[in-house]
Amino acid sequence: MNRVRLFGVEIDRVGMAEAVARVQEWIAQPSAGCRFVVTPNVDHTVLLQTSDALRAAYQGAGLVLADGWPVVAASRLLRRPLPERVAGSDLAPALFAAARPDAPLRVFLLGAAPGVGERAARNIHRRWPAVTVVGAYSPPVGFERDDAENEKILALIRNASPDLLLIGLGAPKQELWAHRHQSQLAVPAALCVGATIDFLAGEKRRAPRFIQKLGLEWLHRMASEPRRLIKRYARDAWIFPQLVWQEWRA
Ligand code: UDP
Repeated sequence: MNRVRLFGVEIDRVGMAEAVARVQEWIAQPSAGCRFVVTPNVDHTVLLQTSDALRAAYQGAGLVLADGWPVVAASRLLRRPLPERVAGSDLAPALFAAARPDAPLRVFLLGAAPGVGERAARNIHRRWPAVTVVGAYSPPVGFERDDAENEKILALIRNASPDLLLIGLGAPKQELWAHRHQSQLAVPAALCVGATIDFLAGEKRRAPRFIQKLGLEWLHRMASEPRRLIKRYARDAWIFPQLVWQEWRA
């Protein structure tokens, strides 16, 4: 495997085109259980330092893709270069765009507030006619600790028989959930994608392309949800440079 070890995490040296091809392979040749994608950004990198459970989830992932320019920039500075940023919010639409009408892609949307998944489904059908959203579910608060609710979600997914599952529960909940249920999930491929279902629904807006290209998507995110994100970003801005420094010295 062509992987780079950074901050205690193995990250795949894979760009967008190859990531799309890999997930398509998983769908074409399903294995027992579900193979899932995680996309470490600065915040995940910081969380990973103190969470054994999140590290275990990362080890169970089929693809670990760098989301966020600071992770890519650090990889170059540390001479273990990653090819490019591959955000989950870009990978999902890239997979939709690669679907062919003669082999429609069946997608299940798990997460986001009630009604958002259905709105995302309508937009997806309009924009990518070769994609069929076969189910959407917004789990209630605390569902992850409720066995009956988890069984219900697994059954919903099994009955819908999707090719691809988008898990938009935020980090680290989505990664922990995918890992915990990996062997029972009746879907060949899943992406842990944060707020992507909100973006697809038009519920939240992503930063314009030029802001993303300038590496300032985080600033846009923070401006849109300052109360929730300011503490997190302050902690990350303090800890991440220390991680880069430790890695540099090592
Ligand atoms: N979310 C959810 N159930 C939960 C917690 C979060 O569906 O129990 C959804 C929330 O509605 C939003 C997404 O998870 O759609 C959070 O994505 P975001 O990327 O903002 O989370 P982060 O990883 O930044 O915390």
